[in-house]
Amino acid sequence: MRKKGIAILGSTGSIGTQALDVIAQHREKYSVELLTANRNSELLIKQAIEFDANTVIICDKSKYKEVNDALSPHDIKVFAGIESVQEAVCAESIDTVLTAMVGFSGLRPTVAAIKAGKTIALANKETLVAAGEIISRMCIEHRTPVIPVDSEHSAIFQSLQGEYNPIEKILLTASGGPFLHSSEEEIRQAGIEDVLKHPRWKMGAKVTVDSASMMNKGLEMIEARWLFNTDPSKIEIIVHPQSVIHSMVQFEDGSIIAQMSHPDMRIPIQYGIAYPERPALNTKRLDFNELGKMTFEKPDTGRFPAIEIAYGCIRKGGNMPCIMNAANEAAVAAFLNGKIKFHAIPEIISSAIGKAHFLEHPDLEDIFGTHEEVYRKTASCLGMHNI
Ligand code: MN
Repeated sequence: MRKKGIAILGSTGSIGTQALDVIAQHREKYSVELLTANRNSELLIKQAIEFDANTVIICDKSKYKEVNDALSPHDIKVFAGIESVQEAVCAESIDTVLTAMVGFSGLRPTVAAIKAGKTIALANKETLVAAGEIISRMCIEHRTPVIPVDSEHSAIFQSLQGEYNPIEKILLTASGGPFLHSSEEEIRQAGIEDVLKHPRWKMGAKVTVDSASMMNKGLEMIEARWLFNTDPSKIEIIVHPQSVIHSMVQFEDGSIIAQMSHPDMRIPIQYGIAYPERPALNTKRLDFNELGKMTFEKPDTGRFPAIEIAYGCIRKGGNMPCIMNAANEAAVAAFLNGKIKFHAIPEIISSAIGKAHFLEHPDLEDIFGTHEEVYRKTASCLGMHNI
């Protein structure tokens, strides 16, 4: 049988490395066609050799020579620059593109992959937050299947297999992050190390900060709105600190279907790549006796205003979610660079929303323009110069 050709955009990040761990368990099923990395040349080189990649792209052009020299004895094609990604994802040998780059930068390559008719294993939620309506339309037009990799959305997708009945409600679960039961004062005092200490999931820095502010759940609500064509009023966020139920779907007869597992991103990553198959995977199995109990609570929108901001933006529509996402990306970068306090993030987003130019029916170029402008203005406001 022909192997499925996989492209991993963002192969050196948390999702990318775990995806390669999944592929290493099923080398007979998959061939690694394309790996891209932002600047981690050392790991990219190692991955390319280990998985005998067809092509690699290092986005940071200053590292091209290093990567090319290291890979020249291996018959692996090497390119540099993010522009090369758009062309490379269209290669004939690629079946599935795993979009695992961080933030808005994933949008252009995702658009290229959709137009090339590749199956998208979507791990870049910001793409759907910023341009959900446009991307959804584009996927229908090009008949592109999108398989969610975000654990909650994978759970919803899995809960919908074989269903054609209407969704009454999506129950989007949230771990609540490291500050779930912290006081406002503790959140105010939180330093970078407190924010990056996520209790359940091992993830990249951007999504870990988003989890702590609960903006991640706001982004995921918008992601779910587009993936499952569901009105935001039918998406309810439920805090479930054990992260065992990864999300649920409620139907009109009152039945609720959930997907559960020990929290391990390799499960939704593999489902995204292997769908509709479920190959064996050596993850820890859920032990209900050890778990003992599962708890649920309502998110506190007072301490975590990001959730309400996200509902407000998606209700308003147009380029509003893009504005919110751009301001959040700039604020998170500023926080990780020590320029602002953690609790300032939602205030910065609200202020950017108040100032930005609203477009009711943006096209793709408007979305790029909005992101660029809001990111630049927010970042320069926060004293970030080298962007
Ligand atoms: Mn998630």
